[in-house]
Amino acid sequence: MGTAKPKARTVRLAYPPDANGVGVLCLDIDGKCQFYTFREMRCDIGGRGFSIHRLGQGELYHVRVGKPEDTSCECMGFLRWDHCKHVAGLKSLIKKGELPKREFQRAEVLVSPSPLAGEGGGASPTGEG
Ligand SMILES: [Zn+2]
Repeated sequence: MGTAKPKARTVRLAYPPDANGVGVLCLDIDGKCQFYTFREMRCDIGGRGFSIHRLGQGELYHVRVGKPEDTSCECMGFLRWDHCKHVAGLKSLIKKGELPKREFQRAEVLVSPSPLAGEGGGASPTGEG
């Protein structure tokens, strides 16, 4: 019979982010471990941006973690409930200090287009026939 006990949900870092910001976390929900790969991405609109997807499944979600107004996720759960395991998992790791903020290089300067050298145009003799 179903006893209504709250789901035990813990998150731990399975593989800390490497130089590219790619890591793996494990969401332990009711004793079942779900692995997610994530990557921190540059985020200029507040909060910290991550892409995250569950190993073995296709969906990739973009998650923002920060102040309430800077928190979002693309998954159905978040759209519906305003919170989800992706946000909760990343938030929890950040809280534990396991996800140090990644430093991003400034965007590379765009290559300026070089003016076309339209030289030439020497008078060519026209042969009249
Ligand atoms: Zn989500």
